[in-house]
Amino acid sequence: MSSKEFIPISKPYITEEEIEEVIKTLKSGWVTTGPKTHSLEQRFKEYFEVDGTLLLSSCTAALHLSLLLLDIKANDEVITTPFTFVSTANVIEHVGATPVFVDIEPDTLNIDATKIENKITNKTKAIMLVHYGGHACDMDEIMKIADKYHISVIEDVAHGMGGYYKGKALGTFGKFGAFSFYSNKNITSMEGGLLIGNYDDIEKARIMSLHGMNRSAWARYSEMGDWFYEVIYPGLKYNMTDVSASILSCQLTKLKYIQERRAIIVNEYQKCFSPIEELQIPKIKPDVIHSWFNYPLRLNLNLLKINRSDFINRLKEKKIGTSVHFIPINLHPYYRNKFKFSEKSFPIANREYERILSLPLYPQMTEEEIRRVTTSVIETVYENRKNTIF
Ligand SMILES: *Cc1c(COP(=O)(O)O)cnc(C)c1O
Repeated sequence: MSSKEFIPISKPYITEEEIEEVIKTLKSGWVTTGPKTHSLEQRFKEYFEVDGTLLLSSCTAALHLSLLLLDIKANDEVITTPFTFVSTANVIEHVGATPVFVDIEPDTLNIDATKIENKITNKTKAIMLVHYGGHACDMDEIMKIADKYHISVIEDVAHGMGGYYKGKALGTFGKFGAFSFYSNKNITSMEGGLLIGNYDDIEKARIMSLHGMNRSAWARYSEMGDWFYEVIYPGLKYNMTDVSASILSCQLTKLKYIQERRAIIVNEYQKCFSPIEELQIPKIKPDVIHSWFNYPLRLNLNLLKINRSDFINRLKEKKIGTSVHFIPINLHPYYRNKFKFSEKSFPIANREYERILSLPLYPQMTEEEIRRVTTSVIETVYENRKNTIF
């Protein structure tokens, strides 16, 4: 047992191609934002069929810029979900606006579209939604509400690269889509993000992302360049480097393969776990192509002698890595204290949090590793069943 290798929750899928591209870029004489980043932005334009794409240092940066572009500030409200990584809410705090959390619906763990309208006030400026795990939110309903009240939709698509709703790519429904290329996401640039939207907004974001200078370093220092620039906004420093872009370019080429592998592994999990009463497998709604950022499994705790944390520890002893996506934002001290949330504030998010865990999921998982995960999970269930009737 102890000779078995630990299977991590995720592993970036980096091969010789990425390494060679990085070396080429490092030797090229230009390593920061420049030709590699710009040509990759063109590829993303074609992929998403949008006219504005901007590669950035993170998804958090993309979300922050989207709020700035919409001029969202103090006294404004932004509706969002508590069941997300905290940067979704942090950026709302950064611009001085108020996050208004709406509880999730239990099947997809996405914001409950039927509960949004109740939270809209005359201060509501945007809905910042998250396609949890890469399963689309109810976009028909959410866009209908947004149109009715003239509020903008920002999609946090950190999990949704490769995901679709009714044949349309996630990230292309709202005014802005913000993607993450952090190392555990479906495709990675180590750290990185992408903002998509219409041309004018994205070109404005480009200036905001680079100190508010009206000409980038590449525009100034390349052969055709000119040293002069003017600052037209007190900008940020959110640009992607050409080194990162050269990794990401290889990753985008592999996206189809990566997504196929993720789906194959998920299918295996679904098949093995669906007959087990103690486990609740993810449900996929019609009209959705899931991008499977993570594989969230839920425990039917009433049938088990142990809680979720014990379950995770048992898997760890079997050398299986897991994670919890996510600790609801309302439970983090900053938010809990600031908004005086109680145990009862978001009953669905809190309840699902108590019984959820994510299993290992990465393209290069071997048959043997997949089998070790499924047998370890099933063993853990069998070893900890409540009332075994003989
Ligand atoms: C990872 C993640 C982010 C942040 O992405 P970064 O690129 O690390 O800034 C935002 N939202 C969600 C839902 C995430 O999972």
